[in-house]
Amino acid sequence: PCGKIHKGFQTDFFSNGQSSFFVVVDNRSAILMASRVAAQVCEPCGEVPFLEGWRNKLINLASIIQMPGFPVHFKRCGIANAFGGPLGITMCYELYWEFERLLKDRRLAGLAWNWVFYHELGHTLLYHLNYPGWDNEDLADEFGAFVALLVGERDGIIATSKHFAENTSIVAAVSKIFSDDRHSLSAQRARNLYHWLAQPHDIMSRWHHQFLRNTQTAYLRRITVGNTPGWVDAEEVNGELRRRGVFQ
Ligand SMILES: [Zn+2]
Ligand SMILES: [Zn+2]
Repeated sequence: PCGKIHKGFQTDFFSNGQSSFFVVVDNRSAILMASRVAAQVCEPCGEVPFLEGWRNKLINLASIIQMPGFPVHFKRCGIANAFGGPLGITMCYELYWEFERLLKDRRLAGLAWNWVFYHELGHTLLYHLNYPGWDNEDLADEFGAFVALLVGERDGIIATSKHFAENTSIVAAVSKIFSDDRHSLSAQRARNLYHWLAQPHDIMSRWHHQFLRNTQTAYLRRITVGNTPGWVDAEEVNGELRRRGVFQ
């Protein structure tokens, strides 16, 4: 295809890996105004195997937490990266491939990817719900642990955080990936996460209390009639249901 490029231009070309292809940028007509052209070529990569599952994960999350409107992008961006904050969440495929390369294990790579998503969700949700400290990394980690436990991903997240905590070389490599982070991902942060997950009661009860007004009514009804988790204050939940005009 040919056409004019104005200012920024970004595109993805997908090859089947079998043949060569060329991208031609022709700026011969730019006689007076010289333009700088930067091109980046990514290594050929495989699929992101668990991407299908995310649709259900997000639906499940929204059935528990009243989500404010923000975009979630899963895409290639050219470098391994993840963002969370005022503009929503971006998880890039290169990040998954980087995890796969470092961890040499697809299952662990998938768990690490999930862990990063919940961390980014922390930045994003806390920002949109007007919480102070939304850009604090430790707070995003703690919130990420809370959400992971809330949706029943305990074992996977324990495995991931333990793995990071015990492998400082991986931690050092991964710390370079999170461009949104003010501080590097230290082994201490991985250990914090592992600690919260191993002894969840304190953070679960605190965050559940904080987030009560941002939960879905159907979820609150469910946890008061079914298997109520130990960290749920049933009296407080019933009070919240009454406040919403729900009597059961
Ligand atoms: Zn990327
Ligand atoms: Zn962060």
